[in-house]
Amino acid sequence: MSDIMQSLVRQNLMQREGYSPYCGAAKCSHRWPRTVFDGEQFKCDCGWRSRFEPEFIARYKERWGSPKTMSDQIELAAARAAIRNVVIP
Ligand SMILES: [Zn+2]
Repeated sequence: MSDIMQSLVRQNLMQREGYSPYCGAAKCSHRWPRTVFDGEQFKCDCGWRSRFEPEFIARYKERWGSPKTMSDQIELAAARAAIRNVVIP
């Protein structure tokens, strides 16, 4: 991956919720799908794993820690309150 691509990917990771980079393997048996975050790095089913430094991953997790955003948290609280208010006849 070129430096420009790298920094673009990092920018997207920090700014676009739910974004994940494409598989970076030279030969991907799964045809370079978007990767899945495994809690530490992004990985592909072909065995490829990203190599972001721990500092970046820490910032990434801080940014999107679960629940993902403040508005998500508010929504979640509202949903829970709504469930509590359901009266079962
Ligand atoms: Zn792959």
